[in-house]
Amino acid sequence: MIEERKEILDKYQLVVGLEVHAQLLTKSKAYAGDLNAFGSLPNSNTSPLTLGHPGTLPRVNHQVVDFAIKLGLATNCSITREMHFARKNYFYADLPKGYQITQDTTPICKAGYLDVKDANHKIKRIGITRIHIEEDAGKSIHDQDPFNTLVDLNRAGVPLLEIVSEPDIRSIEEAYNYLAEIRRLVRYLEICDGNMEEGSMRCDANVSVMLKGSKTFGNRCEVKNMNSLRNVQRAIEFEMKRQVFLIESGAPVDQQTRSFDAVQGTTFTLRGKEDAHDYRYFPEPDIQPLSLEQAVIDEVRKTMPPLPNELFSKYTEELKLSEYDAGILIESKPIALYYNELIEHTKNYKAAANWVIGEIKSYLNQSATSIEDFALRPAQIAEIIDLIDSDKISKSAASQQLFSKFVADPSSTAEQIAEKANILQESDDDWLEEIAQKAIGAYPDKAEAYRKGNKGLLGLFMGEVMKLSNRKANPKMASQILRKLLES
Ligand code: ADP
Ligand code: MG
Repeated sequence: MIEERKEILDKYQLVVGLEVHAQLLTKSKAYAGDLNAFGSLPNSNTSPLTLGHPGTLPRVNHQVVDFAIKLGLATNCSITREMHFARKNYFYADLPKGYQITQDTTPICKAGYLDVKDANHKIKRIGITRIHIEEDAGKSIHDQDPFNTLVDLNRAGVPLLEIVSEPDIRSIEEAYNYLAEIRRLVRYLEICDGNMEEGSMRCDANVSVMLKGSKTFGNRCEVKNMNSLRNVQRAIEFEMKRQVFLIESGAPVDQQTRSFDAVQGTTFTLRGKEDAHDYRYFPEPDIQPLSLEQAVIDEVRKTMPPLPNELFSKYTEELKLSEYDAGILIESKPIALYYNELIEHTKNYKAAANWVIGEIKSYLNQSATSIEDFALRPAQIAEIIDLIDSDKISKSAASQQLFSKFVADPSSTAEQIAEKANILQESDDDWLEEIAQKAIGAYPDKAEAYRKGNKGLLGLFMGEVMKLSNRKANPKMASQILRKLLES
């Protein structure tokens, strides 16, 4: 159906706004004391409150409020001081109360933004309209019983934050980078595990197109049901082409809710605008309005970790790392914290980054260890870097021999291990000169050829020095001495 005619697509501008749901890692549910835990026996975390029995009274979980404030501060939002909750009414088998308790006119966070990279790697500011607190529904299971749908209400009432962006996103890359940044943030803040495959972070994409240069947005379609960043990209790309094709063929784009089919890579209609729910929002009468003292917000601010964007700027601007290296270091918070500690023990920031990105990360991958369980502490990696920088050991001996021996014996010092492994380099002038003399003496004709201009022969003498020294000669010094002797 959809032809890939680039010149036609190029006439159109993509417009996207994203709605992200993040499931919170609180101990208990949003408005009940039931455990918020994944993998419990079905319907075990379900008190009368979760089941919506008459006469039960919900209460606001303050950990949810703290988590929302954290995310609001991290996304440059203003935090609402006086708010109330709202009922969003609809009927569904896995929603025992018949409504969700959410926030409507007074979301806890408003008017923030995130800076992300656009398709040309330039900084693009994406507005965040609002972040509000709500609760999840239960889970209907359609594939375990041949005749019945099973319902597990453990998830009913699990707290969510909904993060709504402005329709500021103009390319698939921006959409991807925005989502990746949200995921990184919730992970840094430790408020959500950010796992889209398991549904703990979900995204709905609102997509429209308009002719380039136009100021009026086209009709949008909301696409649901993407379970990875990659699928969000695929869904937006398909949806853009579908809408362009409709417009080009003279048909209108109807405002719809659509679902993504990951196998086909297409989207299909769930419901049109006419079938849109009327949720009959009204203020939740069972929960008192909530007032937030400035002191509460300040307290939460104190518990914030360094944020990935801040670290990225510090690494690239102050430490002069490449954007590529900085990007890898900030991708996960434990790695970034490890690096942060490492650079308190060494000034060689580039070498520190290389060790973390290179030897350490590949060791962690191979041994399926997390950095928290890694045997060597940052100060110990700094010891290795110091040994290299003071020419006591070569970079290759450090990474090929010392590193693994040190991991196996972390209670020794790096220098002790290098000594035991006999890989400390000799930088003793007299000793090196003696060996260099021997090396030259072994090949008098080659030495003659070198003096006549065949400088390439230096490699041969270096090889000889390394052999005679059991590879312990400091190569930089050895080559200086060789040159001095050969040229004198
Ligand atoms: P609703 O209440 O129907 O969900 P909202 O105004 O809250 O509508 O918008 C939902 C999302 O749709 C927001 O993320 C917003 O940025 C996005 N959006 C609104 N208009 C458009 C448009 N024309 N094209 C793409 N996205 C849009
Ligand atoms: Mg919406």
